[in-house]
Amino acid sequence: EETRSTLRSTQILTSMPQLVSELVQNSLDAGARQVDIGIDTEAWACWVQDDGCGIPREGLNLLAQGKEKGRYGTSKTYGGSTLHASSTFGFRGEALASAIDLASVEISSRTAQSEGSWSIIVRGGSKIFAGQALRWRRERPGTIVNIKDAFYNLPVRRLSHPTPVTTLQLVKRNIENTALMFPHVGFTLENGTSERGDGASKTRLLTIVKTASTLAAFSQLFGKALIQNVEIVNEKAGNITIEGFLSLEGSRSRSYQFLYVNRHPVTSCDLHSVIDAKFSATSFGRKALDESGEPAPHAPSRRSPRKGERYPVYVLNIGVPSNSLDVTLVPAKTEAY
Ligand code: ADP
Ligand code: MG
Repeated sequence: EETRSTLRSTQILTSMPQLVSELVQNSLDAGARQVDIGIDTEAWACWVQDDGCGIPREGLNLLAQGKEKGRYGTSKTYGGSTLHASSTFGFRGEALASAIDLASVEISSRTAQSEGSWSIIVRGGSKIFAGQALRWRRERPGTIVNIKDAFYNLPVRRLSHPTPVTTLQLVKRNIENTALMFPHVGFTLENGTSERGDGASKTRLLTIVKTASTLAAFSQLFGKALIQNVEIVNEKAGNITIEGFLSLEGSRSRSYQFLYVNRHPVTSCDLHSVIDAKFSATSFGRKALDESGEPAPHAPSRRSPRKGERYPVYVLNIGVPSNSLDVTLVPAKTEAY
């Protein structure tokens, strides 16, 4: 199918943070309620364990065939009325296949129907192992994807990669971003060696427990202070919805501005500036600017914060019909068109 092959060719794995995000999205697509994430920047390794629906043995075997037998592709429905972009991230069938080409990938999984856990190990598209899970056994459905040596065959991509510190920050930020849209899912992030067993040193970087709402998740992540005085947003115009909350008191930092389209984080988008401009026009925004002794700008620029300026705090999800935008075209999926 044409759309599908176009989508395939535009999707590339570009970085460790993006790779981790893809795995996390797969876990959410699989209906996970708990997602445990790890990263080891030195070993170019990451792992994501979930309690989602699992991948059937045949699916794993297809994945293990890698390049030779064509890609496993997506198990998610494409196009038309069957695709609900707001409820699923994946509709490209590309992330795992790409990872399998660019890294060592071990996937172990169990579905509700299967007798035990099935495992595959693939490196650079070649199958190394497929069989009963050796290291990972469990009673309930779920999946663990363990990636090592990412981009081993793309030295230039490794060289141009963000530093380990930046990589960790990006991964953490992505998880926080995602957690706000999936408050009913718990997340953990650890940093350390991917090897199991004694002597493994791991540091817990993030623990997000399940909550009932985005507001509660925000409070858990960033504290209550920023959301003392929020306005709940719940608007509908035609088939577009805007949901979330907005703090009129704002913050001195821009770090608390979360915008999504169909629950996909959006970082570069004119809408951020629109919201900033609206905020400046409110009494809170004006007061903040008056205190700084500087005139209110006509169009606040996102790049030049003034001293004393406050920025709105918000988490807003814009829901649009999935056929009216394509969030799959940009690999990092931070821009929507
Ligand atoms: P996509 O998510 O776009 O379908 P991926 O390459 O990311 O493509 O994944 C391919 C397929 O593998 C998915 O459609 C899904 O069926 C299966 N899969 C991947 N990760 C998981 C997971 N954590 N739990 C269950 N199934 C998964
Ligand atoms: Mg996916």
